[in-house]
Amino acid sequence: MPSGSPSIWLEVNLAAIQNNIRQIQSLTRRPVMPVIKANAYGHGLVEVGKAAASAGAAWMCVARLDEAVVLRSSGIQQPILVMGYTSPDRVPEAIYHQVTLTVHELSVGLAYAAQAQSQGKILGVHAKVDSGMGRLGVFPEEGPAFLKTLLRCPGLHVGGLFTHFARADEPGANTTSWQIERFSRLVRELEASGLRPGLVHAANSAGSLYFPGAYFDMVRPGIAIYGLEPSPEAPLPEGFRQALTWKAQLVSVKELPAGHGVSYGYRYITTRPERIGVIPAGYADGFRRQAENFVLVGGKRVPVIGTVCMDQSMLQLDDVPSARIGDEVVLIGAQGDQVIRAEDIGRAWGTINYEVVCGLANRIPRIYHY
Ligand SMILES: *Cc1c(COP(=O)(O)O)cnc(C)c1O
Repeated sequence: MPSGSPSIWLEVNLAAIQNNIRQIQSLTRRPVMPVIKANAYGHGLVEVGKAAASAGAAWMCVARLDEAVVLRSSGIQQPILVMGYTSPDRVPEAIYHQVTLTVHELSVGLAYAAQAQSQGKILGVHAKVDSGMGRLGVFPEEGPAFLKTLLRCPGLHVGGLFTHFARADEPGANTTSWQIERFSRLVRELEASGLRPGLVHAANSAGSLYFPGAYFDMVRPGIAIYGLEPSPEAPLPEGFRQALTWKAQLVSVKELPAGHGVSYGYRYITTRPERIGVIPAGYADGFRRQAENFVLVGGKRVPVIGTVCMDQSMLQLDDVPSARIGDEVVLIGAQGDQVIRAEDIGRAWGTINYEVVCGLANRIPRIYHY
């Protein structure tokens, strides 16, 4: 928590995140392993990790070992899965911090095993299957031989098996059922031959909300725990709450005469005397430069005009004659009866809500509340 008043900040409602985790728990009736990679989708890794732990998260998932180490250093005791690639020379670090790594191909598994064995230790791993994402993992057909070899490695404990969906956020696409079918067939085969790891998981947020066949032993939601929708076609059910609000202060309000340029390149020129405001939010904060931006001031939606600078942006305030220095400006969230959602910004930027929140810079102070 910053001391003194910041002029740009994020408010993160941790109770909303806990509520969303519990919603998914009760919907799926499975232990939840919340995905808190990328600084918890911009919300703040450590605080979200602690809130998730006290909401009953069974595991935590991150993309990189460094993220797992930060969680351990902050006292998180839950098992942690690193879903992305980790170089074998970091196995001692993973073992030291009791972090579970992903094995997505045999050569990597063997290198992990060799590292662990040379220390006389055991590394926990989950095996990754590519059931159709076309990213990390072995194909389902290779699964039995892959598991058989990994299970024989003395330096490894293969505690889990997982896959990932390419199109679960398009519930109408039939490829998710196809992926579930391929993966399920593998799981049955492994079961039959005594090779099934104890924890099988597949469902991201959209999988958790729309594909009960994908629940297996645990679910692995990311975006939904923040109260953000997986996609417009895969909205959140009732009961989920958005956790993040992005605010700034109006730090300048002044009237520019007609014909006055605003910001770099003079891409906006006043056509009459205009009231122009300044907020300390720029592209270095994650406020996109090549975009049509808008914010809320005095309960009204106002346009961002001129080029977004690195640290500041200008607003056209003619519709808000009451606006004064120090007023609160909302970039994401509600003000009066107006709302700007991360989804709205994503649409305006030609991207998705995920990229909007992941782009929120570390330099913006996060203020946490319950
Ligand atoms: C990011 C990620 C998730 C979470 O996806 P959401 O769509 O945010 O729920 C789950 N599993 C893997 C492997 C991921 O990379």
